[in-house]
Amino acid sequence: DRVVSSSADELERAAEAALRPRRLHEFVGQPVVRDQLSLVLRAAMSRGSAPDHVLLSGPPGLGKTTLAMIIAAELGTSLRVTSGPAIQHAGDLAAVLSSLTEGEVLFIDEIHRLARPAEELLYVAMEDFRVDIIVGKGAGASAIPLSLPRFTAVGATTRAGLLPAPLRDRFGFTGHLEFYDDADLEKVLVRSAKLLGIELEGAAAGEIASRSRGTPRIANRLLRRVRDWAEVLGTGHLDLAAARSALGVYEVDERGLDRLDRAVLTALCTRFGGGPVGLSTLAVSVGEEPETVETVAEPFLVREGLMARSPRGRVATSQTWAHLGLTPPAAGGT
Ligand code: ADP
Repeated sequence: DRVVSSSADELERAAEAALRPRRLHEFVGQPVVRDQLSLVLRAAMSRGSAPDHVLLSGPPGLGKTTLAMIIAAELGTSLRVTSGPAIQHAGDLAAVLSSLTEGEVLFIDEIHRLARPAEELLYVAMEDFRVDIIVGKGAGASAIPLSLPRFTAVGATTRAGLLPAPLRDRFGFTGHLEFYDDADLEKVLVRSAKLLGIELEGAAAGEIASRSRGTPRIANRLLRRVRDWAEVLGTGHLDLAAARSALGVYEVDERGLDRLDRAVLTALCTRFGGGPVGLSTLAVSVGEEPETVETVAEPFLVREGLMARSPRGRVATSQTWAHLGLTPPAAGGT
């Protein structure tokens, strides 16, 4: 099962990579982050030095990895990629850092999941461009400082609030990515269709955009699924009818909610009477990790007014009940 799922992941990743914008001017939407980042990069280039470290935060699929790659491309330098969970020991991070070359960009995905010792090593590396290599053990151990070339760290996190302040403070620039509006998602889709050689009708692009949960990754994925449907069951044309039929088959509803979103909302209403219910309890009841519910489903549901957070837990709103076609209990809902 693992082999199957990992090769499927591989295919998804390859399909995604093909659609990534390479330069800042190709990056759709996010005007605030784009303008700010453009300034940071241009200033650094005109000074001929590596820019400040950059932290990118926001829900999955909004373009953090893409921006890290763009930063390296704009600077004309290479990118090294690692992630919080991939670094088991501080030594792993020391090895990566000490192999960097002058001006390189080091991308650390899911930086909030770095283990504490690695995090501490990273502060020093980011601030002083130095790692202390520990030689020997116990009382006889000593630290040999190794100086590092000037590099730029780009951290990505779905939960900026989880980063300890000392680490957050080492980033000279923080960009917060927001969900995309439908017009920007349409631009993403039109661009992707062109790259894939697909003729996508305007109405179909609009329909897919409006059901993509404000997320380019989802928009691109749905585009591929609609193409599958059109080729196998339709006429081959990506028109509005094809988009609606395909999205129905994949259980993406008219507001873009997928199976996980609906499972969470349904549990919230039917098992917990509309809440408040704690995140972990809610996650367990749908068979998911709390982190998945919190980072993947919740931000969009909250933005859409389909779920609210209260100090005592997650609660349903009047919209939640209406969307599910359920009647709230007399005293329930908010
Ligand atoms: P994250 O790292 O935030 O999870 P990614 O950078 O991997 O997200 O983006 C997911 C996919 O969405 C990419 O493959 C890319 O094709 C697409 N994408 C993201 N942001 C944009 C954008 N602003 N313009 C065009 N495509 C985008």
